[in-house]
Amino acid sequence: SDIGSQKERVVTEEEWLQKWEMGNIGFHKEQGHPLLQKYLDVLLNGRSGLRIFFPLCGKAVEMKWLADMGHSVVGVEVSEQALKDFFSDHSLPYCEEPVPEISGGKMFQSTSGNISLYCCSIYDLSSSIIGKFDGVWDRGALVAVNPCDRQRYASLMINLMEKNSSYLLVTVSYDPNKHKGPPFYVPESEIKSLFG
Ligand code: SAH
Repeated sequence: SDIGSQKERVVTEEEWLQKWEMGNIGFHKEQGHPLLQKYLDVLLNGRSGLRIFFPLCGKAVEMKWLADMGHSVVGVEVSEQALKDFFSDHSLPYCEEPVPEISGGKMFQSTSGNISLYCCSIYDLSSSIIGKFDGVWDRGALVAVNPCDRQRYASLMINLMEKNSSYLLVTVSYDPNKHKGPPFYVPESEIKSLFG
């Protein structure tokens, strides 16, 4: 399969912010993702009270869903609007604090304490800032990362995982010559080489 036409494409942070501003967010789904429901047991693997990471989280409703099940959720998203929308969509009170390690970085935390959403680029984060995770829900994240940044993204994600963590990854399969993306087409062979 030829992914040549997508390899050079770059979507800037500015463009993502614009999508949020314009309400051009067709990727957001009001209903919890059916694949998370289907594979929840794989993610949890019999464990409770997990730390679960949502890379490039947007205002994914699954964050509320997992928090309500007693897990702690950490997300990262460049759009402050997305994060504020998340809390207001679910009528969740929150507070806002700066993140000293990240210039301009902010953290929005639910008053209940179990949802912490970082407003910054994912590439500003490291395990020394946000710790490590027992589970990852990656939907609209790897496939939204610019193709040139995939290696860096995958190395970071591996670094953020605890030894026995589970990583659920949703990709999309289509002919990459027909759409410019995102979502980008990430072939299975590339996923294997990125994550091992
Ligand atoms: N995972 C979410 C959103 C998918 S769209 C969902 O399932 O609905 C991808 C999101 O990543 C957008 O909201 C965009 O603003 C955000 N984003 C893009 N680049 C980013 C980066 N470098 N760091 C953090 N967030 C980013």
